[in-house]
Amino acid sequence: MDKLYIFGVPIHRVTMIEAVEILKGYLKEDRIHIVATPNAEIIMMAQKDEEYKKILNETDLNVPDGSGVVFASRVFNKPLKERVAGFDLMMEFVKWASHKDVSIYLLGAKPEVVEKAQSNLKNLYPSLKIVGFHHGYFNEKEEENIIEDINKRAAQVLFVALGAPKQEKWIYKNKEKLKVKIAMGVGGSFDVIAG
Ligand code: UDP
Repeated sequence: MDKLYIFGVPIHRVTMIEAVEILKGYLKEDRIHIVATPNAEIIMMAQKDEEYKKILNETDLNVPDGSGVVFASRVFNKPLKERVAGFDLMMEFVKWASHKDVSIYLLGAKPEVVEKAQSNLKNLYPSLKIVGFHHGYFNEKEEENIIEDINKRAAQVLFVALGAPKQEKWIYKNKEKLKVKIAMGVGGSFDVIAG
């Protein structure tokens, strides 16, 4: 896939429509696909955190989340096409998924926030298949049970809202255990959806 590097972080040259198509394609493949949404802040974090930079180089898709990133890309011959914000991509995907048999799990944010986020999503898209949710304030011991819950409920898509870089590191660390097809870090999106 066409990409450019900003300070060592790959960003794919995709539009929103293309990104949604790529996610749909991931559902047809029987393995986990990690999606990140680098913005200027994340790229700066990766400069001071080699582990984070390495993870961002091993994800399947990095969408340009942030007008700063798109603007900075103008110094390249082929700049990025448009901003694809993580929140917008999640919402576009969920809209499509609500007409399909796609199972979704929400992990992250405070207990009342993730609960409200899932009920707001269900109100917005009554046929959306949210198979489970869990807040993002858990310890290592509880982690195994959460992963088991995600797998037991046969979630295909896992949205992880633990903030950057925690969410990407968590997904990466558990990529072998998670039986989902897409795991995407979505930052503060559940807070926005919860209103
Ligand atoms: N969060 C969490 N567990 C943690 C730390 C943060 O679930 O241990 C949640 C927090 O409640 C919020 C989200 O992660 O819903 C982080 O949002 P923020 O806007 O800080 O993330 P960003 O978009 O800046 O990456």
